[in-house]
Amino acid sequence: MTKNVAIVGWRGMVGSVLMQRMQEEGDLQKVNATLFSTSQKGQKNDFYPECTDTIGDSNNIEELKAMDIIITCQGGDYSKEIYPKLKAANWNGYWIDAASSFRMDEDATIILDPLNMDVIKTDIANGIKKFIGGNCTVSLMLMGLGGLFKEGLVENLVSHTYQAASGAGAAAMMELLKQSNDITSKIDFDAMEALNAEKFVSHMLNSNEINTEKFLAPLSYSLIPWIDSPMENGQTREEWKAMAEANKILRTKNPIAIDGTCVRVPNLRCHSQAFTIRLTKSVELKTIEEIIGSHNDWVEFVPNNKEETLKKLTPAYVSGTHRVPVGRVRKTNFGPLYLNAFSVGDQLLWGAAEPLRRMLMILLD
Ligand code: NAP
Repeated sequence: MTKNVAIVGWRGMVGSVLMQRMQEEGDLQKVNATLFSTSQKGQKNDFYPECTDTIGDSNNIEELKAMDIIITCQGGDYSKEIYPKLKAANWNGYWIDAASSFRMDEDATIILDPLNMDVIKTDIANGIKKFIGGNCTVSLMLMGLGGLFKEGLVENLVSHTYQAASGAGAAAMMELLKQSNDITSKIDFDAMEALNAEKFVSHMLNSNEINTEKFLAPLSYSLIPWIDSPMENGQTREEWKAMAEANKILRTKNPIAIDGTCVRVPNLRCHSQAFTIRLTKSVELKTIEEIIGSHNDWVEFVPNNKEETLKKLTPAYVSGTHRVPVGRVRKTNFGPLYLNAFSVGDQLLWGAAEPLRRMLMILLD
């Protein structure tokens, strides 16, 4: 029987990308999908013809209870409020969520099926109902380095990130663009010399003349080496997630240590990461390249030369695609066990929306 599927949060940034992907893949034709919203409830659905005619109320437990599967990109507060109410009302459907609230719950699986299809299938068989998308940098790291993890070659790993503004939401993305515009629109490119232009930009960044409401500091022409809230050990929560979530996704018996500094940079939707990987054994570089490049259909090994790096190892090459290029792969000065690598990925696709729609398809299968 065709499954009733609620899509909550479809108007948001992750939700919009999810809807686009579901349309592209024909997913919506395979289910009886209803859009739910807190602000558009009861209105006619003029947005996605593949979904039912009327928009449901995201806060109405009775309406949601009629659904076999709920996919939500509405945010963590929504999940924390609504899921317990649904359970209290004896709802026994599947909950697929983009928010982090339930990720580390014992009765939740973090989904990234090219890496952990076996875990997902076992958990479905064991009655798990909460399937949660992973943190964007974690998912992108695993998509890029999946081969090394699969072969048991990662002893531990340092990942320093270069994270896009979109990770902080649509308004933050717009704040970055506006900051850039507020600064560059005042520069006379014909008349001003470079050092004077820099002086002007520095003045603007340190003034109250640009809006920093979302990032709390200027991001344009700058960077912010702090993402999310502080943890007691000195990490930020974003940094903490790398080890916690990666090991949960892979269901490792002996946790692999992962650490690094997460940095917000003035890019719009692609996260990049620089890795230093300590291998469990020394392996020829050629073999490592093959292991990385053959792990999944989306990872793309980029030879360590300038031409291909500039062409393929950049947000410009990746944005809006499922590609996960991995390059700059080389042994380091620390010795043959230490590998250097760099990767880029679209954080709204593999980092957010794609694992959700794929989870829906897995449940339908
Ligand atoms: P978002 O863009 O802020 O959208 C969330 C909700 O805000 C929408 O579903 C919509 O709900 C409401 N909304 C209010 N005004 C709106 C407007 N003008 N346009 C569109 N929607 C509006 O949130 P998001 O960035 O997609 O994040 C959703 C969840 O995914 C969060 O839990 C986040 O942590 C997680 N996540 C985000 C990313 C990311 O890159 N941003 C990555 C991975 C996971 P109504 O229809 O009910 O009004």
